[in-house]
Amino acid sequence: MTDPILKVKDLHKSYGDLHVLKGVSFEVKRGETVVIMGPSGSGKSTLLRCIIRLVEPDSGDIWIDGVRVTDPKTDLIEIRKHVGFVFQQFNLFPHMRVIDNITLALTKVHKLPEDEAVKRALEVLKKVGLEDKAYAYPGELSGGQQQRVAIARALAIEPKLILFDEPTSALDPELIGEVLKTMEQIAEEGKTMVVVTHEIDFAKEVADRVLFIDYGRILEEADAKTFFSNPKHPRLRAFLRRLLERV
Ligand code: ADP
Ligand code: MG
Repeated sequence: MTDPILKVKDLHKSYGDLHVLKGVSFEVKRGETVVIMGPSGSGKSTLLRCIIRLVEPDSGDIWIDGVRVTDPKTDLIEIRKHVGFVFQQFNLFPHMRVIDNITLALTKVHKLPEDEAVKRALEVLKKVGLEDKAYAYPGELSGGQQQRVAIARALAIEPKLILFDEPTSALDPELIGEVLKTMEQIAEEGKTMVVVTHEIDFAKEVADRVLFIDYGRILEEADAKTFFSNPKHPRLRAFLRRLLERV
């Protein structure tokens, strides 16, 4: 099947007078990992949230696996059942054990029987290397471990697509590597991923394509190698220069 799993067409979003997205279009193919980069405030989170209408776009269209998400008649619960979302701040329920954080959507939304949900939760925890933390509370884990639980939770629903919004930005530097490694492993398994991140090495090694968003538009789109070795747009050049100075 060559149809894109995700298609975004001419997306616009304003908050009051602030026109954040000014016609964003791109596609993601099945099995691809696409990294999105762009300055702070350029609308990256807004874009990811619009994809599953956590933020309501003003105009434009989005399709996930051929279903028009922006159709007012579309069942959003059904759409969100098949899209994983990993947030910067993990968003785990602190009062629930790790395993319950994962089984919650499986039993409540996906209607899996409890024993199957537990089995699946343990499988995904094993995948992220945290099977032994299944009965711990999020507060007992490091930030890196909590984010790996959040990734396991996203995987558990067997999503068509996983969206990552700066998944390592809230972490202490020494914990970033374990999360990126987990993400790399998932990408290698052929999951379709859209990742907002400023981690250049991850983008170089894992991304099939990299998009640069600024001024409300995608100003550049290229394979990872070309994106970093031969950036064309002056805004992207300036952005990469600043990013490299930072490290
Ligand atoms: P990024 O993720 O690239 O840093 P965001 O999508 O979070 O950018 O935000 C883009 C712009 O929209 C920023 O100027 C931000 O302050 C503004 N913004 C984001 N969310 C809201 C909101 N709910 N209400 C008003 N302004 C918002
Ligand atoms: Mg953001």
